[in-house]
Amino acid sequence: MSAPPEPIHRAGWRLDPLVDGELRLDGGAMWGVVPAAIWRALTPPHEDNTIDLVCRSWLARRGAWTVVIEPGVGTRWDAKLAARYGIRPGPGVVAGLAALGLAPEQVTHVVGTHAHWDHIGAQVVERDGALAPTFPRARHFLPASEARVTRAGGGARRASYRREDVDVIDAAGLLEPCSGRAEILPGLVLHELGGHSEGVSVVTIGAGADGAIFWSDVVPTAHHVQPSYVMAFDVDQQKSYDVRSHWLARAADEGWTCLYFHDPLTAASALAREGRGYRALAT
Ligand SMILES: [Zn+2]
Repeated sequence: MSAPPEPIHRAGWRLDPLVDGELRLDGGAMWGVVPAAIWRALTPPHEDNTIDLVCRSWLARRGAWTVVIEPGVGTRWDAKLAARYGIRPGPGVVAGLAALGLAPEQVTHVVGTHAHWDHIGAQVVERDGALAPTFPRARHFLPASEARVTRAGGGARRASYRREDVDVIDAAGLLEPCSGRAEILPGLVLHELGGHSEGVSVVTIGAGADGAIFWSDVVPTAHHVQPSYVMAFDVDQQKSYDVRSHWLARAADEGWTCLYFHDPLTAASALAREGRGYRALAT
C-alpha cells in the first residue's frame, strides 16, 4: 500500500479507509466459475494458488457521529487459522483511528454487513484474558439474520462464523439487530440482500452522484464488477447473481463511488457500463 488515500466526501459524510489486516485466500474460491485464464491475469496468484486480499474498514464521520463500517479481521486468531488463511496483522483499525486522532471509545456506531469473522472479528478484543467490545460505547448494527446464523452453528459455511463475535457485543447491551432497509443515521443506510451469506448487506452513503456504496462481499474487489463473477463461497449463487446484477446497475447508473473491503490495491472506484458488463474506473 502506498500513502494513505485522501478521504472521500459524500452527502455530508467524510469517509476514510482503514486497513485492518491482510488475508490470502484461494483464488479459485474467490473467483467461482470464472476461468482461471481470466482471473489469474486480473489477480495474479502465489504458488499455492492464493491471492492477496486486505480487510479494509471504512470510517464515516459527520457531526457528532463516528461510524466504523465493517471492523475487520481483528487479532483473535491462532496460528492454525492464520496459516490457513494467510492472515497478517495490518495497521489495524484501532491504530488507523489513532492516526486520525480518535480513540475506540469515541466510536458511536459500528456497522457489520454480515457476521463472517474476517469482517466483524475486530469488534471484539481480548483484554486481561476476557473478551470485550473493542468500541465500548458504540451501538453495533448487524442483520438479525446473520446473528441467527452465527448462533445456530452448523451449515456449509460454519467455519466462517464465531459465536463470540456476536455474543460479546450482545452481552454488553450493544447489539442492534436490523433487517431489510435500515437507515442507521441520516443518509447512511444498510440494505440486507443475501446471496453471499444469509443476510449479507451493502451500505449506501448519500444518493446519486453524491452517493457511495460499500460493497462488502457482494463485490469483494474492483475486479469482481461483472454480475456473473460470483464467489464459490456464496451460499446462494442465483440470489447472489440477482443481487449483484441489480446493485451493480444501480451503482453505475446513479454514479455512486464504490468502496471495497477486500481489494488490496483499489480502495474506491467509480463504475461505468462497458458492453454488457461494467468497468471500475479511478475516482
Ligand atoms: Zn463474507
